[in-house]
Amino acid sequence: MTQNFSDILVALRTGAGLSQMELGVKLNISNRAISKWENGLSFPSTENLYKLSKFFHVPIDDLFHGDSPRRDVSRDTHSDEPWFDRVHTGMTSLTEMYKVGRGPSSSHTMGPEKACVLFRRQTPEADRYQAILYGSLAKTGKGHGTDRIIGQTLEPIPCEIIFNDTETKLPHPNTMDLIAFRGQTQIARQRVMSVGGGNICFENSPIATAPDIYPVASFEEIASYCRHHNLRLWEYVEHIEGPQIWEHLGMIWGCMKASIHAGLQDDGILPGGLNVHKRAKHLYGLQHIDESAETRENRMVCAYAFAVSEQNASGGRIVTAPTCGAAGVLPAVLYYQQKRRSYSDDDVLHALAAGGLIGNLIKTNASISGSECGCQAEVGSACAMAAAALGELFGLDLDKIEYAAEIAIEHHLGLTCDPICGLVQIPCIERNAVAAMRAINAVSLASFLSDTRKISLDSCIRVMKETGRDISKRYKETSESGLATLNVR
Ligand code: SF4
Repeated sequence: MTQNFSDILVALRTGAGLSQMELGVKLNISNRAISKWENGLSFPSTENLYKLSKFFHVPIDDLFHGDSPRRDVSRDTHSDEPWFDRVHTGMTSLTEMYKVGRGPSSSHTMGPEKACVLFRRQTPEADRYQAILYGSLAKTGKGHGTDRIIGQTLEPIPCEIIFNDTETKLPHPNTMDLIAFRGQTQIARQRVMSVGGGNICFENSPIATAPDIYPVASFEEIASYCRHHNLRLWEYVEHIEGPQIWEHLGMIWGCMKASIHAGLQDDGILPGGLNVHKRAKHLYGLQHIDESAETRENRMVCAYAFAVSEQNASGGRIVTAPTCGAAGVLPAVLYYQQKRRSYSDDDVLHALAAGGLIGNLIKTNASISGSECGCQAEVGSACAMAAAALGELFGLDLDKIEYAAEIAIEHHLGLTCDPICGLVQIPCIERNAVAAMRAINAVSLASFLSDTRKISLDSCIRVMKETGRDISKRYKETSESGLATLNVR
């Protein structure tokens, strides 16, 4: 029999012999909130769902509905496996995908910043720190401002930064060691991996890992569930994340628009020494009398993408979509369409949910990190997210949305990451603009040709991961080859 969340929670709580007050005390949640959940007046946040799931030893999905998405997936051929083995998909909330932070790099500034905040909290008695940067963090950390952000985050406690670009035995291309001292004594040492999108992993520690709340991690399974239940992708996201996801996405959309507005008003030279001029404002105002509608569309979309990417390169506030380096693609496409066709903010939030779901699939099954898989994982993923988001905004069916995202990622396969001087400027800023235009083209092609497509989005994501593995390290955010060898100063 299908039960709803309220019934399930009441059954679990009373079965455990607890009052609402007692449960609240155990979980550090107000009894008022529990009462509202049990009366169907509100729904718990992802974090609280996770607490309930752990406390009652029940998979998160069983808290949502008696008939979970996983069990309804018609192509689930492993139904004899125990639930607990299958629920760990690694697919976390979209709040882990869309984050607000300071640029220019989610892996080189946002991740290390987060690591330092947590490490500092763990070592309040420290009077001196040392940070040793390895791999890509050592090779392009200066250009990306990793040393600056670490120093600022640990301030006023001094921190010595060491760039170790010779160590090769690393658990991840973006690895760093944080060491705390008190006097001459080392009091703590922690190895941290900045795994992309501002996310971090602490070696030998479960700290900072978010729960995986999605019960399946392939587009095929998600689409199957949506078809079976007649859901659009955004409804599926709401189904899994709860209605509170809209509040987060509303904040994200507000920040995306703010970064476009700020970028369109800004001019001058980007920091870092490459003498790169900010171009968004210029592009936006560069109107020709006989400009065609197509040229105008390209110019506007590019101006918006430049605006966000230039804010990112200046260390401004942007949204990871899925990373800082690729932050301009998705907002540019959605902002242009909202202005042009007057879509409501709710429509755009639904599109962000669909795009986020695609980014989440790529992050889970391949990578969104330039140092792991090259720029195909950053700008390629952003293009796929933008294509899916636009497909959702246009009300395309699931096949067409999948095809649009697949086209977008397929034609970024093999794209390398070779930023000049390790700065997220050349080729990154223009690349965001080109990917935004490409996302629009992918949607238009998909809306005509989805009947005859041969490659699924899931397989294309797998190929992206394999291609990323095969790309030489020299082209994965190390600034040792390719464009990075050109002298453009
Ligand atoms: S080239 Fe691509 S992956 Fe590399 S820093 Fe620039 S945007 Fe990021």
